[in-house]
Amino acid sequence: MTAVLEVDPERVISDLRELAALTGDAAGAQRLAWTAGWERARELVAGRCAEVGVAGVRDRAANLWFVLEGDRPGMLVAGSHLDSVPDGGWLDGALGVLAGVELLRAAARGSREELPSLAVVDWADEEGARFGRSLFGSSAAAGELDAGELAVLRDADGVSAAQALGAYGVDLGGALAEGGLLGAASAYIELHIEQGPVLEAASLPVAAVDGTVGIARDVLRFEGQAAHAGTTPMGARRDAFLAAAEAALAIERAARARGATATCGRVELEPGVATAVPGAASLWVDLRHRDARELAALRAEVLGLAEGIAGARRCSVARRAVWSIEPRAFDCGLVELALEACRGQGGLGHTLTSGALHDAAMVAPLVPTAMVLCASVGGLSHTREEDSRPDDLRRGVLAFARLAELAMAQPWESAGSG
Ligand SMILES: [Zn+2]
Repeated sequence: MTAVLEVDPERVISDLRELAALTGDAAGAQRLAWTAGWERARELVAGRCAEVGVAGVRDRAANLWFVLEGDRPGMLVAGSHLDSVPDGGWLDGALGVLAGVELLRAAARGSREELPSLAVVDWADEEGARFGRSLFGSSAAAGELDAGELAVLRDADGVSAAQALGAYGVDLGGALAEGGLLGAASAYIELHIEQGPVLEAASLPVAAVDGTVGIARDVLRFEGQAAHAGTTPMGARRDAFLAAAEAALAIERAARARGATATCGRVELEPGVATAVPGAASLWVDLRHRDARELAALRAEVLGLAEGIAGARRCSVARRAVWSIEPRAFDCGLVELALEACRGQGGLGHTLTSGALHDAAMVAPLVPTAMVLCASVGGLSHTREEDSRPDDLRRGVLAFARLAELAMAQPWESAGSG
């Protein structure tokens, strides 16, 4: 039978406003992981869960779990993250956690005889804003953290990740070994704001997500010859920046042709002074596509284009891989349930692939996973201007609760059997 979760979306919105007042300032949300603002946010959520008799449990990676035991086998996990970027928005991550808390409240009110267990998890340090390592807690739980990668992380002040996380009781070695409560999960669901303009442009309040895109991030380093800006005739130059700039435009065209996104978000010039022709230019290229083969083909095409352009300008180019992740598809059955839930709230009959990474992408290879996205105003996120229309938030919470009901009605034999 289908569980009934009578959620009150207004409670979620008022909790979000209270959280924003408690942890934000004129510049935006200040819930950077491993800081006092983040801790205050976690205390608010722990207080809400304590009201329905559920105590928080912190695992070795500092993920915060709230578990309401049910009478049936299996456990549904609803998760997201309370941490924000500095001067962030009020909804990013917090919406999913507080909607999960509302699920917990609704489940605690009703009879649990027909329900499996329900867990809410606040993943630690999703944003990676301080050390540059996103999805810390969910990666740890999924066994995707690498010791060598963590050992070298330092913040802008030179404080090591080991030192900063140690102050919060996290031993990096222990975090690497964290599997914890995720091993008991039968399904994982996450509600998140879209953080982009697609839903708003299509007048859609909510959408089901079928997975996250693959990402390939590289640095293309162009080398030419540094020279005097006044005495070197235009025809005699080997300008590494102009090669990089021409490549950036070619990369844009290639990405458009393949239905991919490409972003050249950073360029470093050497010597980097107004009076010298750039001798070297390092261009950071972030490529994203939902299809792994298309992504690989685009990455190869980008290098070929860069080599051709560099050669024509008597420069050279070399590629250094920075980071990559393959596309992560969510569980077909659970995505179908998310579609059904979204259709009930004015969503579409088809799914979106998320161009942003979420904790759900880490969970998906291990546990059947689905997501619901809520429309963002103007597509803005990671800024204090981030917002969603109240009615879209309401519909998002209701669609999420419906997904939870449908998921909990699945015949889970035992925890983790999916
Ligand atoms: Zn987020």
